[in-house]
Amino acid sequence: MSAAGKYTEELIKTANLIASPGKGILAADESTNTIGQRFQKINLENNEANRRAYRELLIGTNLDIQKHISGVILYEETLYQKMEDGTPFVDVLKSKGIQIGIKVDKGTQPIPGTDNETSTQGLDGLGDRCKKYYEQGARFAKWRAVLKIDVPKGLPSQLSITENAHTLARYAAICQENGLVPIVEPEILMDGEHSIEDSARITEQVLAAVFKHLNDQHVLLEGALLKPNMVLSGTQSKTKATPAQVGKYTSQTLKRTVPPALPGIVFLSGGQTEIEATENLNAINLAAGSKPWSLTFSYGRALQASVIKTWNGDKANVDKARDVYLHRAKSNSLAQLGKYEGEEKTASASESLFVSNYKY
Ligand code: 13P
Repeated sequence: MSAAGKYTEELIKTANLIASPGKGILAADESTNTIGQRFQKINLENNEANRRAYRELLIGTNLDIQKHISGVILYEETLYQKMEDGTPFVDVLKSKGIQIGIKVDKGTQPIPGTDNETSTQGLDGLGDRCKKYYEQGARFAKWRAVLKIDVPKGLPSQLSITENAHTLARYAAICQENGLVPIVEPEILMDGEHSIEDSARITEQVLAAVFKHLNDQHVLLEGALLKPNMVLSGTQSKTKATPAQVGKYTSQTLKRTVPPALPGIVFLSGGQTEIEATENLNAINLAAGSKPWSLTFSYGRALQASVIKTWNGDKANVDKARDVYLHRAKSNSLAQLGKYEGEEKTASASESLFVSNYKY
């Protein structure tokens, strides 16, 4: 018996809609603290009115956006907010056929007896929260687990791998029991001096453990999505991997570990520049050749950094900022199809979005 129960058909349908060709996810589920850090860069106060105005900018982007965006992940506050004219955000997304997602984890805490490795919190009461979110229109969820590579120190430790695989699987089963497609996100941070080969080896170990635990917890793979890191060289590595290498190692790692029953793999951007995240997604799709799942984007920073900058907290810039969002969404949509041919590199789209030891 699977955890999906009476929601089996609906979960499969939702997961496949999200993984439709040429489409991906906007991750706009920054916690209040994280969005505050973004607003700081444009000297904007982090209050409810400004957060609502910014999310209205994204959600209200014109009809073309749904050609490229199949799902938007929201933070709890946003799930209940409205457009300036009083229309609930969820109704705007539904009218465009965009699936509504919700971040359900409650951040990380150190695992005792480890070198500052972490475990993600939020399982207590999760079933009740999922029911509420489903009633409000959510159809998928996100839970971010975080792992660190430090080869000389032997990180990630086996304890961190097991703990995070277990909690991700518990979360996924609880979501499915309540009608939400779980996005399973074991993010291995880019921080570190490791080579792309080490990143590939460790990502393979982590994903193998995650799928073992998903199986143990009776998670219906046909109604779930994976959100992994791309296989990259560490930010302090002596040599930076090229898109062709990222494509080769990422597709190899996924083919070795991800069962074909899963409809989609939706990458996080993890601190890459906007352009790198698009180029690498394109390279991964080209390198993968024929594949059983869709390989697409679920980007936060790499879809929003230039948008926030262009907006600058000023209503007069909303249309310009929406054009920037549409342009990034379109470019990533082409990359999902392996048809991205590059673009003029603006300073903003080439800017590093890396934050050491990133918290969401
Ligand atoms: P980034 O694309 O900014 O890494 O964020 C994606 C995300 O949802 C992390 O949980």
